[in-house]
Amino acid sequence: MEVLVRDIAEELENLAPREYAESYDNIGLIVGSYFQKVKKILITLDLTEDVFSESIHKNCNLIISFHPVLFKSIKSLTGNTFSERVVISALKNDISIYVIHTNLDASWQGTHSYISKLLQLNREKSLFPKNGTIKKLTTYVPISYSDKVRNSLFNAGAGKISNYSRCSYNFDGFGSFMGNEKSKPFFGKKEHFHMEKETCINVVFSSHKLNLIKEALFKSHPYEEVPYEIYNIENINPYIGIGIIGFLIEEMNEYDFLLYLRNRMNLLCIRHSILIGKKIKKIAMIAGSGSFGIEKAIKEKAHVFISSDFKYHDFFKSEKKILIVDIGHYESEKFNKNLLKSFLDKKFTHIPVYESEIHTNPVKYFY
Ligand SMILES: [Zn+2]
Repeated sequence: MEVLVRDIAEELENLAPREYAESYDNIGLIVGSYFQKVKKILITLDLTEDVFSESIHKNCNLIISFHPVLFKSIKSLTGNTFSERVVISALKNDISIYVIHTNLDASWQGTHSYISKLLQLNREKSLFPKNGTIKKLTTYVPISYSDKVRNSLFNAGAGKISNYSRCSYNFDGFGSFMGNEKSKPFFGKKEHFHMEKETCINVVFSSHKLNLIKEALFKSHPYEEVPYEIYNIENINPYIGIGIIGFLIEEMNEYDFLLYLRNRMNLLCIRHSILIGKKIKKIAMIAGSGSFGIEKAIKEKAHVFISSDFKYHDFFKSEKKILIVDIGHYESEKFNKNLLKSFLDKKFTHIPVYESEIHTNPVKYFY
């Protein structure tokens, strides 16, 4: 069966909807075409020239990169930087490049799920739950069609709240209408006032499902003019956002925790703030650059904050309230290659998917 770049993108965006990405990010298809037939896939954290050569060598015509190969807008494409050279070579060799980045970080099934499994964490919520991820639909349906419309909305993904599904609020009332001479009213006659007993159905849904929900509504609702309202709501889904808060199965002292972390995540070295003699049980974590999360982790009363790219003065912010731990940027994200490969292997059993064998960490350790 033929698989197009579009099919792969669709599955990846089910795992990590585009709407979850940070506004500064540059995700999705960066080079190539959604209608290209996929032969083999190469997954990398960083798209360097060495990784690009690997894709040629392995005959992969779709590269999935975690970090965007193009981050800022460019005004010329002359090959001055490695990113430009990769893009030029990709165009010449008919290779598509797809980026899945902060949207994977923010997905409950994404970056932090893998690390949580490694550390055997019970995840409670995201450290920075994202705003604007929930919408609400209100529609008015003739009573004899209310089951059909409600079920169709549920099947499209509406009505899911945490551990509950098929949630809705319904009440009956009367709708009135009078169509003009061009109308084709489902009940009554055109140019005649009509009152119909209707059910008002209210459901919430994830913002990224908006098109699917509207499609389901329009297909199942019998009226020529479908009455509906869509609202942005302020409620926050605690399972979407950057970083996580979670708990270790058993508390440990700081030294044992650092050893545990190093072994579980296969780390060469760890930078950390002064040990303060507290037991470690509650963990805050942001994979990648996360120094902006120190204050939030303290506010959440986490015992440790794990992330990367801390500056010298960041470690002072511990104030003996929290243990700040820098495990390295690459080291905190390196498992994403495996996460994406496992995901795609299950979805596309006949498309070979490779993790890049190139160690792209630009930071080296002399110890
Ligand atoms: Zn990163």
